[in-house]
Amino acid sequence: MIASFGGSGRLSTPRAARLTVRLAVLATTVALGAVGVAVSATPSSAAACNGYVGLTFDDGPTGNTGALLSVLRANNVRATMFNVGQNVQGNQSAARAQVDAGMWVANHSWNHSHMTSMSQSQMQSDLSQTNSAIQSATGVRPQLFRPPYGETNSTLQSVASSLGLRQVIWDVDSQDWNGASVSQIVSNAGRLQAGQVILMHDGIQNTRDAIPQIMANLNSRSLCPGMISPSTGRAVAPDGTPTTPPTGTPTTPPTGGGCTAAATYPNIWGDRYNTSVTVQGAGNWTVVVAVTAPQKITTTWNGTASWDSSGYVMTMRSNGSGNTFGFTTMMNGNSGARPQIRSCTAS
Ligand SMILES: [Zn+2]
Repeated sequence: MIASFGGSGRLSTPRAARLTVRLAVLATTVALGAVGVAVSATPSSAAACNGYVGLTFDDGPTGNTGALLSVLRANNVRATMFNVGQNVQGNQSAARAQVDAGMWVANHSWNHSHMTSMSQSQMQSDLSQTNSAIQSATGVRPQLFRPPYGETNSTLQSVASSLGLRQVIWDVDSQDWNGASVSQIVSNAGRLQAGQVILMHDGIQNTRDAIPQIMANLNSRSLCPGMISPSTGRAVAPDGTPTTPPTGTPTTPPTGGGCTAAATYPNIWGDRYNTSVTVQGAGNWTVVVAVTAPQKITTTWNGTASWDSSGYVMTMRSNGSGNTFGFTTMMNGNSGARPQIRSCTAS
């Protein structure tokens, strides 16, 4: 939707025209309000991956974010959504739906301005406000930033860096913003190599229609959709340190017995998510975890679990399987809550 310029082939779309399009999108987004997203549970793919690519969708959330997320989930895709802060503020439920569908959310400025003409303090304010809007709506603090139109300079990069944001441009431009057909978008995506990132946009029908073929092409080359590393800006495997630390208190200080337990959320689907808890400071340990009703833990591993009478407080004891245990929690309609670690006791 929004013109983004890559490489040397800059187009000369009049700025006013671009601005008009953008404002129309914003108005539509605000007017539509909540976006309902029907996502079905899709297990993470176990397909062999010879490498990862970063699929990115800019300028959302839009009135079509729900449709985009449905296509992505149906094709088992996790992608990075470079959101416009003002859109997030106007459509918080759609931003939340992105995270609930397993997407990574990132910063694409407050209102898609040409940021290189801003003062340093204006840049700072713009990116901070956007981070706050995204964090407020989703519980996730962005770690990636893409400047509108790919326009950047050293001041903007240093401001982003000071806010903990890694600048990410793109390797491949799908040209979806430029009226590319479905087959042209698929063809452009076919140039992706391991580690690379492609620019696409929320709110474009041809982009959504291209996703099944893009995935078929990637699968044929054993490339898998991954996350964009905040440290390198390259596409990497989606597991490991999550880029989407949800709200809550993932780490507890040591309690009487002296150990700590830290939670990460390596897998988040539409209806459930996995929690991985790593214990430090004790070989034999007992960790008490509480989930928020109606969320419910359904499966556990690498520990011996017992439950209180409510069924929502789990006591997990080491069973010789190491210091990391895990469990699956059904959301049951509450997609926002995350487990609380109440204590960690050495035994
Ligand atoms: Zn954009």
